[in-house]
Amino acid sequence: MKILIINAGSSSLKYQLIDMDHESIIAKGLVERIGIEGGKLTHKYGDKTYTVTPDAIKDHTEAMNLVLEALLSKEHGVISSISEIGAVGHRVLHGGEKFTASCIIDQACMDAIEENIPLGPLHNPANLMGIRACQAVMPDTPMVAVFDTAFHQTMPRTSYLYGVPYEYYEKYHIRRYGFHGTSHRFVSARALEVLGLKDKPSKIVICHLGNGSSLSACVDGKCFDTSMGLTPLEGVLMGTRSGDLDPAVVECIANNEHLTPSETLNVLNKKSGLLGLSGVSSDMRDVRSAAAEGNAMAKVTLDIWAYRIRKYIGAYAAAMGGLDAIIFTAGIGENDGEGRADVLKGLEFLGVKLDAEKNAKVRGVEAEISAPDSKVKVWVIPTNEELAIARDTLMLTSK
Ligand code: AMP
Repeated sequence: MKILIINAGSSSLKYQLIDMDHESIIAKGLVERIGIEGGKLTHKYGDKTYTVTPDAIKDHTEAMNLVLEALLSKEHGVISSISEIGAVGHRVLHGGEKFTASCIIDQACMDAIEENIPLGPLHNPANLMGIRACQAVMPDTPMVAVFDTAFHQTMPRTSYLYGVPYEYYEKYHIRRYGFHGTSHRFVSARALEVLGLKDKPSKIVICHLGNGSSLSACVDGKCFDTSMGLTPLEGVLMGTRSGDLDPAVVECIANNEHLTPSETLNVLNKKSGLLGLSGVSSDMRDVRSAAAEGNAMAKVTLDIWAYRIRKYIGAYAAAMGGLDAIIFTAGIGENDGEGRADVLKGLEFLGVKLDAEKNAKVRGVEAEISAPDSKVKVWVIPTNEELAIARDTLMLTSK
């Protein structure tokens, strides 16, 4: 079966067509600047790229029509009829407490995604636009919603409640939800396989380190705690997000810079992290090259980045009462050997022993990077959120 994966943002729409017989990508692409001047579709198939720059792409339905035209095109297409697409899997940001797993999209599911808009005010409306656009152009194709928050719904109350008046949880659903759940689920399942710990007791920390970063503590394959919170702002230092800070910092910045609370949150979400501290870039490669060229602030930023992740690993080992493995994934986690080594520095007391030579060589591939006698195993396991969404979509639509 061929499955189309859709990840809709407010002005963009990413897609991948996956052949589930071989779990291979047939085509993928991106529609940018939907509803803004200068809309563009970039369609990749095999080793070829094809771009379309129409006058305007009015809305997500027009964007979906462009995607289907590209997939069906005589010159650049990869299928000959829409009916070849057996199902569509949609990435949805916030499932709140309603969704502990992926689900078939019906009216009740759409209503629940809508109900969760207050928790995901930027993403859930965009995700709904993507779903509605697909329904408009492919009304007979079954669709599945896969939630970024679902994997973390197994967290106990001790992990997810904040120390604020309990009525705010009851009235406004303020709690830790966690994100990147599809990645954490995919990587933790694979980790149990490679570690031979499936159906055995296990305590694992997954470090999803990309532009957005989050850690999860997984006990027996289930999420026990995670570093992102009500929103993706909490946790470790990220590309442009500050991660953890004293909430009083918000008022202090707002007063001094004459900003509203939401303008201040914008600074914490978009102008902080690696970018804000280093003043160089939100991209780890740029910060690392600046540090190598002697930029002192870039060097300090790298130290803070690693220190904060290390603190979380230590905290999660204590919270779980042990640690069998640490797994690195996502852009930085999979590719940046120096970063991984920095994070693990000082964790020898927990039983972590890195194979430095192997670690330096591993890039974007699955590999064990701990020494054979390391008590805590350390692995790089590449994430594949699209494949995880496609597998859920196949499973739910083949029932
Ligand atoms: P992601 O959000 O998972 O796509 O990850 C993006 C981040 O991965 C960016 O900060 C990139 O700089 C970083 N990244 C990708 N390749 C490398 C590399 N070879 N070394 C260091 N960082 C990398």
